[in-house]
Amino acid sequence: MVQGWILENDKTITILIPCFNESEVLPLLYERLRHLEHPEGCHISVLFVDDGSTDNTWEQLHSFTVAQSDWNAIRLSRNFGHQRALWIGLENTNSDAVFVIDADLQDPPELIAEFTAKWLDGADVAYGVRMKRKESFVKRFAYKSFYRILDRVADIKIPLDSGDFCLMDRRVVQAILTSKESMPFIRGLRAWVGFNQQPLPYERNSRAAGKEKYSFLMLLDLAINGLLGYSRKPIRLISYLAGALVLISMLILAGGVFGLLSSLISTTTFSLLALASLVLISAGSITAAIGIVGEYVLKIYEGSSERPVAIMSESTVGKLPFERGANIISIGIDRKAA
Ligand code: UDP
Ligand code: MG
Repeated sequence: MVQGWILENDKTITILIPCFNESEVLPLLYERLRHLEHPEGCHISVLFVDDGSTDNTWEQLHSFTVAQSDWNAIRLSRNFGHQRALWIGLENTNSDAVFVIDADLQDPPELIAEFTAKWLDGADVAYGVRMKRKESFVKRFAYKSFYRILDRVADIKIPLDSGDFCLMDRRVVQAILTSKESMPFIRGLRAWVGFNQQPLPYERNSRAAGKEKYSFLMLLDLAINGLLGYSRKPIRLISYLAGALVLISMLILAGGVFGLLSSLISTTTFSLLALASLVLISAGSITAAIGIVGEYVLKIYEGSSERPVAIMSESTVGKLPFERGANIISIGIDRKAA
């Protein structure tokens, strides 16, 4: 059971769960969490982050926190996205380790025992590696391709088929939180900070209830953010493209000279073909180049704007800077007591 006394030498672990419109799966999640065994010598607490849900996710989470004294919930002021919700969660923990799982039970919470064993054995990060995914073919294909492309182009080693399902030691969490990115890519940052990282193979279940919250566009956004954040290669592509263009035009020129000298084609045909293909290639490449530069400019803009990652609107943890009617100095309202 999650409830219990914290003994003096107990290590504390927070299970961090971002939730967006998860009302269908929450009752199942509640039961699974409620019956979790404490790993030996460890005390477990739970922190939910409601990422601006529009169903009654917040009401459910709040009732969980009332029933379970060690559970807490934070509500974001709107939907900021999974990665930012995770970030806010990490910022609001102070346990010895944080165990990150999805709300939909695709990542079995019971595996906390195995993750904790790796941690107690000296790993700073134990990260789940999906051996099997019980998901649609398209999604499996998209994820597989993404991780393999990322592996080829990333400047650091981000483990294949590892998502955010992991257990992180406090020093890793603190190290991640030193980053100033307003669009964090948690699994990239996790790989980037280093320390002793250990894989833990597992089978990824299908969603226990409700619909997937990541749309195709959100996944694309995550992929682009990951690729641009951890690789300089896209910008290099522009130079390669320019080189390829010069090569192509020289080849066409050489082919044209050869064709004309051996009277294989007429001057008019060749000029037209060459012109058309050159115009097309140039236009396409210039657009692609502008697009890539644009992505980087966007990242610089986002990085320099110093916008917070997300805004909290309610919390059972306390510390709410934007509480209605509250004096900004006397923050720290105990919502559960209220
Ligand atoms: N999620 C979130 N904000 C979002 C989208 C998703 O907090 O904008 C949460 C969601 O509730 C779930 C986790 O992120 O706990 C993973 O989402 P989902 O299961 O839809 O993604 P997938 O399994 O396809 O990676
Ligand atoms: Mg899921």
